[in-house]
Amino acid sequence: MADGRFAPSPTGDLHLGNLRTALVAWLFARRAGSRFLLRMEDLDPATRHERHVVAQQRDLAAIGLDWDGEVVCQSARLDRYHAAIDHLTASGLTYPCYCTRREVHEAAAAPQGPYPALAYPGTCRHLSVAERAEREAAGRLPALRLRADGVTVRFTDRCRGLVEGAVDDLVLRRRDGVPAYNLAVVVDDAAQGVEEVVRGDDLLDSTPRQLHLAALLGLPAPCHAHVPLVLGPDGARLAKRHGGVTLADRLAAGQTVTGVVGMLAASLGLADRGEPLTAVDLLDRFDPTRLSRRPWVLTDPDGRPDRPTADRS
Ligand code: GLU
Repeated sequence: MADGRFAPSPTGDLHLGNLRTALVAWLFARRAGSRFLLRMEDLDPATRHERHVVAQQRDLAAIGLDWDGEVVCQSARLDRYHAAIDHLTASGLTYPCYCTRREVHEAAAAPQGPYPALAYPGTCRHLSVAERAEREAAGRLPALRLRADGVTVRFTDRCRGLVEGAVDDLVLRRRDGVPAYNLAVVVDDAAQGVEEVVRGDDLLDSTPRQLHLAALLGLPAPCHAHVPLVLGPDGARLAKRHGGVTLADRLAAGQTVTGVVGMLAASLGLADRGEPLTAVDLLDRFDPTRLSRRPWVLTDPDGRPDRPTADRS
């Protein structure tokens, strides 16, 4: 048993890649007879839209995914995140950073060694009191960063095997005062008793950061399965512009819900092409050890019956 979750950000409609990850996360949990939780990662006020929260839940339910208990919304849990940040600050593990996003991009070299892309190079780590005062006087609002001391974290991912990554001085609280994703996810997964995090492998780089934060906060760490992303026909990460990428698009183009679930299942090597299926049908077929390590390229952007190029090796 390992309780799982799906944690979308309500920034728009879920696309087939999101639905596929949600389906895999649900299969991991339900096949093990575990709880499956839904959390809306709606911390960013600029992208918080109730209509997306509603539409995302509607689409997950439509493809046959169910979840236990109330849906948790991060926007209602700010106190917990600030308490965790205060705890780290009281332990001397944070510092204010005055860099703009642009400055970080310019200063961050291409990924180096075990560091993630855009790893923060530590520009503000050793500012003197006078240097801080100078920046504040110039009206710069600081973000708060973790003093990670270049620690390296290793973990075993159920899809990717042994992964090692260095932790950079990640942001804990943004300049606008909003707690950062990496912090909130760690606090929430622990508070909700999540034992297995199944998510897109675009977040693989963040996992060493999150495991390190969990250790610093004395929180239990979940295990991980990072599922390959879905790509559009041009090889870029699937996006709205590819067309035909949401459930609504597919239904409008004449596909059925079981057709869409069958297409996702085929992309996971769990079904033959064109086989209509429900999520429950897949419970007996799902084998976490046989998940593909390669991305799935969606070749039918306009919603015609699919021609998946799933790697079933
Ligand atoms: N909210 C994140 C996203 O939609 C996922 C977070 C996670 O699964 O840890 O990309």
